[in-house]
Amino acid sequence: MQATTKVIALFLSFLFFSINTRAKKPSCGAHLLHAIINKKDPSWFSKQTAKRQAAQLNYQNKQGAFMKTTAQVTIPVVYHIVLNQNQINAIGGIAGIQKRIDSQMIVINRDYGRRNADSTTIPSAFKARYANTGIQFCLAHRKPDGTSTSGADIITLPNTTKKIEETNTSGQDLFYDAKFTNGAFNTWDPSQYLNIWVCNASLGNDTNGILGLTVPPYFPNTFGYNPNEVGVILNYRAWGKRSTGFEPYISGCDKGRTLSHELGHYFNLEHIWGDDNGACPGDAGYTDDGINDTPIQGAENYGCPTFPSVSCTASAPNGDMFMNYMDYSDDICLTMFTPGQVAVMQAEVASTGESYSLTQNNNVCYWPASVANTQGTTAIEIVPNPFSHQININYAEQPLAIRVLNTLGAIVFEINTTSIGTNTTLINTTPLTSGIYYLQVQFKEAMQTHKIIKE
Ligand SMILES: [Zn+2]
Repeated sequence: MQATTKVIALFLSFLFFSINTRAKKPSCGAHLLHAIINKKDPSWFSKQTAKRQAAQLNYQNKQGAFMKTTAQVTIPVVYHIVLNQNQINAIGGIAGIQKRIDSQMIVINRDYGRRNADSTTIPSAFKARYANTGIQFCLAHRKPDGTSTSGADIITLPNTTKKIEETNTSGQDLFYDAKFTNGAFNTWDPSQYLNIWVCNASLGNDTNGILGLTVPPYFPNTFGYNPNEVGVILNYRAWGKRSTGFEPYISGCDKGRTLSHELGHYFNLEHIWGDDNGACPGDAGYTDDGINDTPIQGAENYGCPTFPSVSCTASAPNGDMFMNYMDYSDDICLTMFTPGQVAVMQAEVASTGESYSLTQNNNVCYWPASVANTQGTTAIEIVPNPFSHQININYAEQPLAIRVLNTLGAIVFEINTTSIGTNTTLINTTPLTSGIYYLQVQFKEAMQTHKIIKE
């Protein structure tokens, strides 16, 4: 009897230990999507791999090198906040929402622009592969109807808790709380905006549910998805970057990297380990991410591994690139994309790619004329406005670029900012004909656009 009790106690402690060591944060929901589209087309992954290989080859042949150093595209982003009032209150209400949006925009622009300060932690063996995607993001300041928006489209749900929804039989119903709003996702024109739905996708605790899930732009043409489903679902507790105050975040997910990862899926990247349940070359079912310069990797990483971490002997001695945004490591350890990944993403935003149209609609990021000049994260002052032969622009932070655009969004002229004053600059507007223009002032982490009128 005593022996049996001991065995049971041992078993229970083993079980408890196993559960503890296996406790993980919720994962990206890509596996849910994969399970569905595998049924539609079992060869889709190899087809996508071929597409990625072609993109990398084209990129090499066209440029003679991987990196694109000149072109940069900007993509408008809108956040649909689909939460109940209790959840909105928990993250600090409207102010908390804006704080998350502002910090999230900075994170993705730094990560995609190779400007993240924590890149210093990239091991020297991988440093040469730290790449700039050439993709930047601006926050929508015009709704589809032309009226102003802070970039936050808030859809308040009833406080009655909604359960995360299982996929339905048709396999296309992967939207969670978002779909409860009168049956609509409230998608803004997906050819103009990159839609992000911020939802409660935690399933009530931190070990179930998802951090994010992305329906990439190629899904409508390839798998018959409704274009209104294209975009990113983001767990509201893995959104933005932690700052001061009471801000509930899922452990390890408080630096805004969930969106950096999901946007990788949006631009046609898959997980760095190939989603093959830990297989290495020679193992049954082994697949790769289709990227030539990411190391062969067994399974996903959690937490923050120590370099070198070798999961497949094929990638010894440097091992896994666990600091790649397309792994599952904690936010604090994710720091880089590779040139191969950039080639795939660049192919997606190039004129033949499915998300090209997003790069052609930056005017939705301009504040409408009705909005006061001081609105925005980096205040500027424009005097006088309306103007005749000159305008003064006053600013606290040194602009990187100042442009005058016409009402179609075309650049009329650009100021050389290398020689402008530290707090003010005077622009000669004599060459402009009378009419309406937009003054665009680009800062390191923000862009302001304001309507100006030449009398
Ligand atoms: Zn993922």
